[in-house]
Amino acid sequence: MTDKLIRVDMTNQAVTVEPFPAEWKLLGGRALSGRILLDECDPTCDPLGPDNVFVLAPGALAGSAAPTSGRISVGAKSPLTKGIKEANSGGNPGQHLTKCGYRAIVVKGQPSNPDARFGLSVTADEVKLVPADDLKGMWNYALCESLASIYADSASFITIGPAGEQRLRGASVATTDQDNRHPARHAARGGLGAVMGSKGLKYVAVDPGKARARQPSNPKEFAQICKKYTRDYLDGPQIFKHGTSTTVKAAQILNTFPSKNRVEGQSAHAETLDGANIVANFERRGGGMHNCLTGCIVKCSNIVNDEDGNYKTSALEFETLTLLGANCDIGNLDDVADLDRLCDEVGVDTIETGAAIAVYMDAGKMEFGDAEGAKRILQEIADGTEVGKIIGNGAASVGEHTKHHRVPVCKGQAIPAWDPRTIKMVGVTYATSAMGADHTAGLVVNPGIPEDQLAIVSQESQIINAACDSTGFCQFVQPTLQDMADYYTHFFGEAVTKEDMAEQGWRVLEDEWEFNRRAGFTDADDVLPACMKEDAIGPGKAVFDVKPESIKQAKIRQGNRPELFAMKAVG
Ligand code: SF4
Repeated sequence: MTDKLIRVDMTNQAVTVEPFPAEWKLLGGRALSGRILLDECDPTCDPLGPDNVFVLAPGALAGSAAPTSGRISVGAKSPLTKGIKEANSGGNPGQHLTKCGYRAIVVKGQPSNPDARFGLSVTADEVKLVPADDLKGMWNYALCESLASIYADSASFITIGPAGEQRLRGASVATTDQDNRHPARHAARGGLGAVMGSKGLKYVAVDPGKARARQPSNPKEFAQICKKYTRDYLDGPQIFKHGTSTTVKAAQILNTFPSKNRVEGQSAHAETLDGANIVANFERRGGGMHNCLTGCIVKCSNIVNDEDGNYKTSALEFETLTLLGANCDIGNLDDVADLDRLCDEVGVDTIETGAAIAVYMDAGKMEFGDAEGAKRILQEIADGTEVGKIIGNGAASVGEHTKHHRVPVCKGQAIPAWDPRTIKMVGVTYATSAMGADHTAGLVVNPGIPEDQLAIVSQESQIINAACDSTGFCQFVQPTLQDMADYYTHFFGEAVTKEDMAEQGWRVLEDEWEFNRRAGFTDADDVLPACMKEDAIGPGKAVFDVKPESIKQAKIRQGNRPELFAMKAVG
């Protein structure tokens, strides 16, 4: 099957399908999204205007038999950071698109009527825009139920909730998971849901029908490495087998479980919010671990039921437990699960929204620990009230409106749970990544890295994660650059080395930095906010005190050390 590219012109509601450029053969996911944006999007454009470019790019191996490889990248100029943005998600749409032969969807323009809504219907034989005005304002779960009644059982969906339609800067893009087609997986960061909303796109439905998996160039060798890799993984420690929620205990010990708008690095709620309780509840309430996409061998995604055994949400992750829980001083697991579900329903990032509510609380606008108040805010976001808009636009927006001094953001994006004061390496990543504060850009959970090593470790972690985000592999399956090279070699039928993969990862970072440079970013933007440098946490009174000269080194290529090739995605 020849690879294809879908182009959608929302100004004229026109769709074209063209051959996928041969020079992009080895590009997928984040690498492909970044290249398209650098080539085709004016970095100075209004992120919510017609000139922004919205990209959906499955990883290069998506749709193949490579285990845990079907993630999809969503890319655009971010309305939150004003720089380039890539956020990737599990669920099945990435695999379904590539099984139909489509390596990417590029959406440009804007309908003249801002109230118009459209759906993009994709099968192997036909791609068309369809009217979707009747779905306007729908929350994600009801929307997907409605779509399920229209489309075949084999279809998966990419959707936005009311936050995306309102173009709020904390809005996410949801994808449906493999089991029940719940819109529980999100390309959450950077307000990409607002860009999709600005294009008038309420959903993309991808129906692969009976399309089979993408076939590798070297079938025998490819099957062998899939088998070996799966066996090695299953024989290994499987550190994410209960998901990220069980990280709470370790994060508490490391003083990176932020509490009350990050004034503390530990929370009194660490025991109740520990993901081990979610696992313990499986026996009584049902639910359990599952794979969010077909072929995932990690199965890190938890299904959380309520007291009566009814489905409540999925997946309740460490970051959500931290930002919507401890950071808002909310300690009841069921409350945080409710908030997670509400965020998925309304279509907002749990990290950004949790951080925004915490700033709002810290500014004295509501009490810390007010779980019901936090739930009301989610309803206000959906309803588009003044408060809903302020909080739905993210933590920086709350800081602006309340004039509060403590606003933990970098390049306009809220800082995730992993705290740069105690895990300084991740602070270097937050400062230097074109994405702003994003732990998935490069994280090694080691508080003991000496200052003169922080930049190189951050750089190496950013390289491997950029490469991983381009393959379609989930970071939680932790491939090395050699693993990725082996898969590429036998899938694409040309020799790819680990050095080539390192180069691809570095090129991704360079493309992203170049986009931001053209958008007006300078070294002066590569900083963490004052609160991270002044508000000390933990017994060691830790602050982020890495010198600017050290931070800068992360953007200067240091060469391939043996450590880079020993590294796995998510260190
Ligand atoms: S490891 Fe978790 S997040 Fe990654 S693909 Fe599997 S279930 Fe989804």
